[in-house]
Amino acid sequence: MAYQTVNPYTNEVVQTFTAHSDADVEAALAAGHALYKSDWASPANMSARLKILAMLAEVMNARKEELARIISIEMGKLIGESRSEVQSCIDIAQYYADNAARFLAPVPYPDVLGEAWVEHHPVGIILAVEPWNFPLYQLIRVVAPAIAAGNPMVVKHASNVPQCALAMEKAIADAGAPAGTYRNLFITPEQVANIIADDRVQGVALTGSEKAGSIVAGQAGAKLKKATMELGGNDVFVVLDDADVVRAAKTAAGARLYNAGQVCTAAKRYIVQAAVADEFTRVVIERFQAAQMGDPLDDATTLAPMSSQRAKNDLQTQLDQAVANGAKVLCGGAAVPEQGQFFPPTLLGNIERSNPAYFEEFFGPVAQLYVVADDDAVVALANDSNYGLGGTIFSGNVERAKQLASRIETGMVFINQGGDSVAELPFGGVKRSGFGRELADLGIKEFVNQKLVVVG
Ligand code: NDP
Repeated sequence: MAYQTVNPYTNEVVQTFTAHSDADVEAALAAGHALYKSDWASPANMSARLKILAMLAEVMNARKEELARIISIEMGKLIGESRSEVQSCIDIAQYYADNAARFLAPVPYPDVLGEAWVEHHPVGIILAVEPWNFPLYQLIRVVAPAIAAGNPMVVKHASNVPQCALAMEKAIADAGAPAGTYRNLFITPEQVANIIADDRVQGVALTGSEKAGSIVAGQAGAKLKKATMELGGNDVFVVLDDADVVRAAKTAAGARLYNAGQVCTAAKRYIVQAAVADEFTRVVIERFQAAQMGDPLDDATTLAPMSSQRAKNDLQTQLDQAVANGAKVLCGGAAVPEQGQFFPPTLLGNIERSNPAYFEEFFGPVAQLYVVADDDAVVALANDSNYGLGGTIFSGNVERAKQLASRIETGMVFINQGGDSVAELPFGGVKRSGFGRELADLGIKEFVNQKLVVVG
């Protein structure tokens, strides 16, 4: 696919970018490898690298509005949500600037063979393959720990957010990073495969669909390269019969419509106990119907267009199939603005297990409603999924919610609040949602050599 900015609100082709050649790829790998072999990458030089991260936070802070506008123009996000995304990037860069030295400090081990400790060394160039839905935040989650650890990066970003890709590359260079630290590449899947096969590359981090994840993880596995995969999700939003149902419903609606529903950890399956189901459904529908579709750059707009015409068409096909297989539209079909890739908020009920929709992720503003009798039914339904990313439980009894949380097969569970992501907390899933963790201390340990040294 061409690397192109197509504004999903105006449908205007804003700019098309030239693809990088194999010679460009070779130059990026050569620069990255030279940097990895230099003193810059050594554990002893960490404070210099952390200064770059602190400067990156400053650079992004100074460009906050400009970066937010680029996000909104390229993939349609509401401007307020884009500003929050840039703030998250600043927070993550600053977080690793402040904490990476502690995370990567040598760890003493028992002296059974002599004095022993584990040191943390960089491993070499890391390749990142990233998606468009949080086009700066997805990048910083991998690049901030990589700079701290001393791993150079090459990046293949999604083809519909090339300006975001270039803006991050420029911000990192302007923060004082030496040549080879971070290189954006507008390349094809074949070039990605060649990079993974290259001996100078020692790891691959991908965020995206299950399909892309299985291809790239397979290529990494074939070359015995470490990989982390942050893939799709079909997160549950559970409302127990003792919950504050109005607060739960408002949170559930917001957690489905944020970023036009294009969030891996969005609340996609509402699982509600019978006693509170009517009230929950009423409030969710009220919130869905109140969504204001319009210009993403207007602060009054509350529901953004989807990222592309293809994304909207794919979602419509998926919805039609769900209905053809027996699902009932409880809310949907609202008029959308003539201009832009808008999809009306939709609530689906009556989804049987035989309906393909039961197992599918809807990557847009479409929620599924399931009404169940008791806590065991909540767990059975929640775990009857190929995905295992996050989930939310609302209950008036936190102990009861904690017990349920321990039974749900996901990488993250949130009690009495919607799913969220911050620098300080690890992020990732199980099952087909992928493997490995990003952010926090766990994220920075994914791509380091945890080297044991023993003095006899
Ligand atoms: P894709 O998987 O198609 O795209 C993600 C990235 O992978 C893009 O850079 C894309 O490039 C690239 N890519 C796709 N196929 C290949 C390939 N064969 N080889 C190398 N690179 C490839 O995802 P979508 O655009 O469909 O994004 C939405 C999906 O991502 C959803 O399923 C969602 O749940 C998931 N996701 C997961 C997140 C998480 O943190 N777990 C976060 C965000 C999204 P190109 O654009 O050029 O095709």
